[in-house]
Amino acid sequence: MTQHVPTDAAYAAQLDARDALAHFRARFVIDDPDLIYLDGNSLGRPPKAALALADDLTRRQWGQRLIRGWNDGWFEAPERIGAKIAQLIGAHADEVIVADSTSVNLFKLAVAALRAQPGRPRVLTDDLNFPSDIYVLRGAIDLLDKGHALEVVPSRDGIHGPEDGLRAAVDDRTALLTLSHTAFKSGYTYDMAGLTAAAHAAGALVLWDLSHSVGALPIDLTAAGVDLAIGCTYKYLNGGPGAPAFLYIRRDLQETLGNPITGWMGQQGLFDFSLAYQPAAGPRRFLTGTAPIVSLALIEPGVDILLEAGVDNLRAKSEAQSAYAIGLWEALLEPLGFSLNSPREARRRGSHVSLGHAEGLRIDLALIDAMKVLPDFRAPDTIRLGIAPLYTSFGDIHEAVTRLETVVTERLFEKYSLETPTVT
Ligand SMILES: *Cc1c(COP(=O)(O)O)cnc(C)c1O
Repeated sequence: MTQHVPTDAAYAAQLDARDALAHFRARFVIDDPDLIYLDGNSLGRPPKAALALADDLTRRQWGQRLIRGWNDGWFEAPERIGAKIAQLIGAHADEVIVADSTSVNLFKLAVAALRAQPGRPRVLTDDLNFPSDIYVLRGAIDLLDKGHALEVVPSRDGIHGPEDGLRAAVDDRTALLTLSHTAFKSGYTYDMAGLTAAAHAAGALVLWDLSHSVGALPIDLTAAGVDLAIGCTYKYLNGGPGAPAFLYIRRDLQETLGNPITGWMGQQGLFDFSLAYQPAAGPRRFLTGTAPIVSLALIEPGVDILLEAGVDNLRAKSEAQSAYAIGLWEALLEPLGFSLNSPREARRRGSHVSLGHAEGLRIDLALIDAMKVLPDFRAPDTIRLGIAPLYTSFGDIHEAVTRLETVVTERLFEKYSLETPTVT
C-alpha cells in the first residue's frame, strides 16, 4: 500500500486547486494565515456565522427579548440542534438531544443501561477508550453498588482496537459494551455494525462514544442497530469551547431506560411545577437542568455547514488528506525517527494521523513556539495531526510536515525543556 507522494509544495497547491470543498475554508475565522492549525479534532475553528450569532444572542435575544427568549426558540434548542446532529449520525430526529458534557451523558446512559440489565454484572470496554469514559464507568459502578465489574480489554499495540478480544469477551453476563468509535490517540475506527451485532447476539447493550468521529466520517446508528451513543460538539462540529454534548437513545429504549439525574427540564409539563416527577416524552426525558443557551446555540452554525458540505464528501477529502500526510511522513519524517502511530488501513482510521517520536514532547513545544504549527500532543510521545476537512488544506499538511522536518534536522527542539504545559 506504499504510495509515493510528491513532496514539493506545488503538488499540495495542485491538490488544493482540485478540492471541491476548498471554498468552505472561507466560512471559518482564520485570524493568522501563517498559523497551521491541526487541532480541529480537539477544538474546531469558529464558523464566521457563529460570531454573528453570538452578537445576536447577547445583544438582541438576551438584551432585548429578555425572558421572552425562551418562547423564541431557546426552549426547543436542545431538540432542534439534536435533530440536526441526528442527520450526521444516521439517527432519527427524535433520538438525539443536546445536553450537559459528554462525560455526564455517559454517566446518565451507563447507569440507565446497567439498571435495565439486572443479573448481568460485566461492563466491557478497552484500553484505547478515553480516560474520562473509564472514570465515569467506574463511578457509575461504584454508585450502583450492585457488584458490576469493569473489564478493560487491552490493545496489542496501543494503535489497533482489540476487536477480536472484545468479541471473545462479550457473553451472557455482559450488561454493556462501550467504546470510543474512533480512538482519541491512534485514530483507530472500530467496526461499529459488527461489534454491535456481536454484543446484541449475547444480549448486551451497546454504547458508542462518537466524539472523534462525528462530523468527520459517516455514521449510521440506525443501520447498525446501536442502542446508545454520546458525543462531543466542540471538535469536528466546531461548537466552541465547552459547548454542550449530545446523547442518542434509540426510540424503543426511550420508555424503558430512565434518566438517573431527574430534573425539571426532563419533566412532562414542567411549568405545572408538580412535585411528582413524570418524565417527558422522547429524548427530553434525558435532560436534567437548564441548558447553557448561548453555548448551545453556537453549535448550530457549524452543524449547518457540515450538513451543507455532506459527511460523505468530507470523509472522501479526509481520507485523501490522511493518505497525503502518511505519504509525506514516509518520505520525510520516517527517516528522522518518527513512527506512524495510526492504522495504515484507511477504513480503520478516523481523521487524525498520529506520529510518535522519542523527542515527541520537545518537538511539539518547538513546533508551537518557533514554527507556528498547532497540532496536539498525547503522552508519552505522540503528536496528533488533526485533519478537519472543512477547513484544513493540503497546503497546511505540507507546511506542517516540512516545519516538523526543520525542527528535527535543525535540532530546534533541543532548547525546550520537558515541563509539560497544561493543555497540549
Ligand atoms: C473529547 C472527548 C470527550 C469530552 O468529554 P467532556 O465530558 O465533554 O469533556 C469525551 N469522550 C471522548 C472520546 C472524547 O474524545
